[in-house]
Amino acid sequence: MHLILFGPPGAGKGTQGALLARHFDIPRISTGDLLREAVRAGTGLGREARRYMDAGELVPDTVILGLVREALGSESAQRGFILDGFPRNVAQAEALDGILRFLHRRLDAVAVLDVPDELVIKRIAGRRSCPNCGAVYNIHFEPPRTPGRCDVCGGELAQRGDYQEETVQHRLEVYRAQTEPVLAYYEQAGVAIQYVDGSGKVDEIQAQLVHALQT
Ligand code: AMP
Repeated sequence: MHLILFGPPGAGKGTQGALLARHFDIPRISTGDLLREAVRAGTGLGREARRYMDAGELVPDTVILGLVREALGSESAQRGFILDGFPRNVAQAEALDGILRFLHRRLDAVAVLDVPDELVIKRIAGRRSCPNCGAVYNIHFEPPRTPGRCDVCGGELAQRGDYQEETVQHRLEVYRAQTEPVLAYYEQAGVAIQYVDGSGKVDEIQAQLVHALQT
């Protein structure tokens, strides 16, 4: 299975992608995760990427394509992969075509998680985490017992820079302007596109995805 998991930020691509990866026994390759790893490790690439990520902008294609080339060429991706967060614009989709041609592979499908903007904003801008123990909350869906305090260790909860509402709004604008046209690109190329409602419960969405991808 060679799959692109598509959808706006906050659509649940990470959660659904991890479940699909287990189901099909293939790796989930998330460019966002690869970038966050580089940021944590403090590499030059991480330092460059961070400026864009904090502002809700796309990281330059050259940086991303290096990461993707390496990940898709790795041993673990030989039987297939689930791409999460890539391609984010038409230039990246064109570059992916070139990488896949080189590897003698073809895309099987693009699965799109559809989620309305209001829910995206609640999901992302509502996220809080504990800097002490790493516990994660959502003030709308999984609030802590005491507002602003961690249930586990009592630490003061914080909101990540790229989770601020203004930044989320901007990420949505970037998605509409730069990422959504990628769907038309694949439609024209004749790749199967499966749309799934991403606003329900995790296990229901997963079942719909698996069903859509097996038919
Ligand atoms: P994500 O976890 O996929 O939402 O990505 C978090 C951030 O990493 C994005 O807001 C972008 O700044 C950056 N990023 C992730 N994937 C890409 C990509 N394919 N192209 C450009 N920037 C990306």
